[in-house]
Amino acid sequence: TKDSGRNNYHFFNEKMHERVQDRLNILSYLYEGLSQRQFELFYQPKIDLESGRVIGAEALIRWHHPTRGLIAPAEFIGVAEQSGLIEEMGSWAMEEACRYCKQCLDLGLVDSGFTMAVNISPVQFARGSITKVVSDALKKSGLDADQLELELTESLLIDNSTSIKRALLQLRRMGVELAIDDFGTGYSNLGYLKAFEVSVLKIDRSFISRILEAEQSRILVEAIIQVASRLNIKVVAEGVENQKMAEALSMLGCDQAQGYYWSRPLNAMKFEKFMRNHQRD
Ligand code: C2E
Ligand code: CA
Ligand code: CA
Ligand code: CA
Repeated sequence: TKDSGRNNYHFFNEKMHERVQDRLNILSYLYEGLSQRQFELFYQPKIDLESGRVIGAEALIRWHHPTRGLIAPAEFIGVAEQSGLIEEMGSWAMEEACRYCKQCLDLGLVDSGFTMAVNISPVQFARGSITKVVSDALKKSGLDADQLELELTESLLIDNSTSIKRALLQLRRMGVELAIDDFGTGYSNLGYLKAFEVSVLKIDRSFISRILEAEQSRILVEAIIQVASRLNIKVVAEGVENQKMAEALSMLGCDQAQGYYWSRPLNAMKFEKFMRNHQRD
């Protein structure tokens, strides 16, 4: 069924998170997992609401633990961030996403308007290597910078650190697109959107899931779309699960969307199959 996929993960015991020893256990498994290539990127298509075409994908990391099975990022990103391991994991994900996007281009599955979105942890900025990670991944893969989109947190943009500001501006100068993930959950200060030439706002699923029932959510989403359009910023709705939601968003003037309604995140093989079927429509 459509909804069973979410329960395919074999979660760590929730209590594990609170215990230091267990964090250390997860961490040592994580190190092992990285060196033994247990991580994989899944890709969720992004749809242009007007044309119905696939205009991009978001890369989402998955961990195939040899005995625990498929583990969702919510279970390990926090530990990876706290330990600093996110740097190595993030570099791997960046390289893999660029390589894969270039491969899809070469296979003719996507065109030069397609963008690959990669999630970036604020920790990757704090540690200062993000611009090099991005430029190395682009160079190695041969992918054009404008086909790469970085999904950033709102908190990153209001951070006053000059090194973060410098890195953001440098990424923009390289031609990489910047997207604000989970928009609406944080500070909602619009000034910085212009300052860093943000090109995409992703409205958080918590608002999208309520637009059919809650007037307030609908008003908020509509307001975000209107402001964004004046600032020439694209809006992506995340977590669209049915046709009614897609239609409502389209009516509100939302540009793009992603969600289970079109596709769950897919492994490379299934993503390619999805793209081939989609091209035929
Ligand atoms: P996110 O960036 O907000 O990603 C969207 C999450 O919503 C994904 O969960 C996706 O599978 C899920 N989703 C997509 N469509 C729907 C829908 O229609 N309904 C529902 N209920 N959910 C939907 P996922 O893959 O478990 O990722 C969770 C979070 O982990 C991500 O949230 C992101 O913050 C983080 N993450 C994932 N991959 C990476 C990565 O490579 N690096 C970093 N730093 N963080 C990552
Ligand atoms: Ca994201
Ligand atoms: Ca998001
Ligand atoms: Ca989220």
